[in-house]
Amino acid sequence: MPLSTQLEELHYKNLKNHQYELAILPWGATEAHNFHLPYGTDNFQANVIVKQSAQIANDKGASVLVLPPIPYGVNTGQTDIPYVINMMPSTQAAIIKDVAQSLFKHGVKKLLLFNGHGGNDFKSITREVGHSFPDQLICTCNWFEALNHKNYFDHAGQHADEMETSLMMYLYPELVLPLSEAGNGQHKKFRVHALNESWAWAEREWTKVSNDTGIGNPHYASAEKGEKYFNDVCQLMSNFFIELANTAKDDFYKY
Ligand SMILES: [Zn+2]
Repeated sequence: MPLSTQLEELHYKNLKNHQYELAILPWGATEAHNFHLPYGTDNFQANVIVKQSAQIANDKGASVLVLPPIPYGVNTGQTDIPYVINMMPSTQAAIIKDVAQSLFKHGVKKLLLFNGHGGNDFKSITREVGHSFPDQLICTCNWFEALNHKNYFDHAGQHADEMETSLMMYLYPELVLPLSEAGNGQHKKFRVHALNESWAWAEREWTKVSNDTGIGNPHYASAEKGEKYFNDVCQLMSNFFIELANTAKDDFYKY
C-alpha cells in the first residue's frame, strides 16, 4: 500500500529513515462566509486540494509530505464578527519559523506555505524566515489565484462567492445551507479610487463593506462548476508540487 501523504496519518516506523524533499503547510482561516458557508470553508478547501494534489504528485514519483494544517488566519478587519478567530502576522511568522526549523533539521529541503485565505500574506514572512535558512527553500502560493475564474464562473467575487460556494457544494454539500438562505454578497467599494486598484491598498472594515460578510454573488453556484474547477486546480497544483520537489535548490534558475 502506498504511504499516505499526510504526516498525521504516518508512523515513526516508516518515517525514521525517510527523507522528504518538499513539505507543504496548508493554512486557512476561521471566519464567517456569507450566511450559507461554514466558518471553516478556507480550511476545508485548502486541505482537500492539498491532499488530492499531493497524492497525484507522489503517485508520479514526487517526494511530498503534507503537514497538519493551521486553521487560523489574519482577520484583523473582521474581529467585530462573532467567533472569527484572528491570528496576527507576527504570530504566523513565529509559527512558520518553528515549523521550518523542525523540518530542516531533519533534512527536508523545501517548505511550501499553501495559503487558502485572502487575509494571509506570507510573502514578507517567507523573505524574513527564509533569510535564516540559506541552504533550504521556503516559498508560498495562493491556490485560489492560480486559475482564471472567468473560465469557470459567471460572477466574480472574493469571499463566499460563486467560486467558493460551488467548490463547497461539490466537496462538502452537507455543510452548505440552501442558497435561498444566502445573502447576495453585495459589497461597497472604497470612495478613494486608487484603493480599488491593485497598486494601492488599505484594509477593509468588513462589516462596513458587506451586510452578509460575503463579497460576490453566490446564487449561480453549482456542484458541477465546483467539480470542474476542483479537478483543474488539483491538476495545476500537483504539477507545481512535482516541479518544486524535483528542482534542486542549487539549480533553481535557467535562461
Ligand atoms: Zn474563504
